[in-house]
Amino acid sequence: MTAVELGLPAVRGNPDTAGRPGTPLLVDRFGRIATDLRVSLTDRCNLRCTYCMPAEGLDWLPKPDLLTDAELARLLDVAVTRLGVTDVRFTGGEPLLRPGLDEVVVATAALRPRPRISMTTNGLTLARRAEGLAAAGLDRVNVSLDTLDPARFRTLTRRDRLDDVFAGLAAARAAGLAPVKVNTVLMRGVNEDEAVPLLRFCLEHGYQLRFIEQMPLDPQHGWDRDDMVTAEEILAALRTAFTLDPEPGGRGGAPAEKWLVDGGPAVVGVIASVTRPFCAACDRTRLTADGQVRNCLFSRTETDLRALLRGGASDEEVAAAWRGNSWAKAAGHGINDAGFDQPDRPMSAIGG
Ligand code: SAM
Ligand code: SF4
Repeated sequence: MTAVELGLPAVRGNPDTAGRPGTPLLVDRFGRIATDLRVSLTDRCNLRCTYCMPAEGLDWLPKPDLLTDAELARLLDVAVTRLGVTDVRFTGGEPLLRPGLDEVVVATAALRPRPRISMTTNGLTLARRAEGLAAAGLDRVNVSLDTLDPARFRTLTRRDRLDDVFAGLAAARAAGLAPVKVNTVLMRGVNEDEAVPLLRFCLEHGYQLRFIEQMPLDPQHGWDRDDMVTAEEILAALRTAFTLDPEPGGRGGAPAEKWLVDGGPAVVGVIASVTRPFCAACDRTRLTADGQVRNCLFSRTETDLRALLRGGASDEEVAAAWRGNSWAKAAGHGINDAGFDQPDRPMSAIGG
């Protein structure tokens, strides 16, 4: 029985919308507007990256809790046509594991104004999916790759699939999912020596590399600031082999600080989520695979849109709840604050 059927308020966290201006957009108290929607399509994955999941996996969301394709399509429609979302990124877990992904992309591409559509994936099955997804309307992909060494990949992901990721990357490029971006998390004593080889690899193949500082979002709650390889360390390592100049135009609202490599035009990005947070320019809103809206990776409250949908709410009621969620967004993620409290959901269940 849903909260609505029980006569309970469907909005957990019960955002107070006092003072909110009358705009339909996803504004918050600090003047930010969320236009970039991250959609987690599943919490399941076919890798077991050590920093993201235990070897045995996690307690997956039960199927009835997941949004159906029709529910997902409806929320995407609300986001784009009522709330001003302009960018949709599919993620997970591993988004390529979601049955019906191509149809979800087709439905998203049919929305007006048509949003830009991207996906963050581990790339394992991209070799056979890239062309179909491009035809469905996918514009771009980010493929996660933390090492170029097959043995290390096996240790880090607990699967022997590095060649599949390489093939997936090549297929994405061939399918025109450009620019093909590569996401890398460097970890001390694990792969911190690969900054330069990974950039060489990406330059050689025409992929755009972005390093992401590791954040406290692991299910084990074992994140340790001292294990995190900082943006400064990454840049210092890269500068042993390349010249890096700030990309003209600055960071803007983008999380990645971009650097021209050896004078350009190639660029490398560094996302310093922990040491140089970009919260003040954040334009994101997040939807989990079980239909909860989050205004931040680190938020401790969610708004239950699935309960609203299943309780018979109108599109405008759903939109209003989503707006309330954004209005309640905190100024920052608080990782660097003394009382920081890691969210209960790990990265794979929120959508990275
Ligand atoms: N399975 C897909 C993939 O790996 O690309 C999509 C989901 S995954 C959670 C999205 C991204 O989050 C990956 O690039 C992964 O490396 C990154 N990630 C996972 N845990 C992280 C953490 N604690 N801090 C920073 N990035 C993390
Ligand atoms: Fe799966 Fe992505 Fe997490 Fe690796 S980082 S276990 S590929 S969800």
